Amino acid sequence: MDSKKKILVVEDEKNIAVVLAYNIKKEGYDCDMAHDGETGLNMALTGGYDLILLDIMLPKMTGFEVCERIRYKSQVPIIFVTAREEEKDRILGLETGADDYVTKPFSFKELMARIRANIRRSSGEVARVVESHDAPIAVGELVIDREHYSVTKNGEPVELSKKDYDFILFLAENLGVAYSREDLLEKIWGYDDYYGDIRTVDVTVSRIRKKIENDPARPEYLLTKRGIGYFLCKR
Ligand code: CA
Repeated sequence: MDSKKKILVVEDEKNIAVVLAYNIKKEGYDCDMAHDGETGLNMALTGGYDLILLDIMLPKMTGFEVCERIRYKSQVPIIFVTAREEEKDRILGLETGADDYVTKPFSFKELMARIRANIRRSSGEVARVVESHDAPIAVGELVIDREHYSVTKNGEPVELSKKDYDFILFLAENLGVAYSREDLLEKIWGYDDYYGDIRTVDVTVSRIRKKIENDPARPEYLLTKRGIGYFLCKR
């Protein structure tokens, strides 16, 4: 018996929220709506959702703030729904811990592909953690503890979102090998070429660098291989 996955739509434009919810339900998910940031946050923290679709410009509390506050307590997949190019650019500099974003106007097909991929990844990982008895991987001062699903640097825990952890783990398991952003989208987000936005990878890399590098502007661990992509450096 496969219980229905639950999605929360936080969107103040009610006609958009209603259309989203209608289409999401048509795909076989349960779907609730919130029309301001505060209500969205409360529902996200108490409703047991499998994924949150989060608008950015919201009354009472912005989507960025909602995301940050959800992340204190939960690793539920969060997809930002952004209205404009400037917001997309703001996301690139953000560290709120969202898993992905889509820009309005988006095709519903694309959005559903991303929802499915995020939910699939997120439920897949839970199973992997339970089964994992793999030894920790040490990379310089970093230790990736695959049994406890955590990363430490010099013995101090590094606060990472689930996606950040997956990203580091994947590169650590393939130490020294550079992957293109398209490959990383496929392996870590579960997207195929058509649906992924490669800038999602850049956002994640910049966020992780701020957390693991001594100087994020001069990374020593998570390196760029020009013309190819990213890799985790053997040290
Ligand atoms: Ca809005």
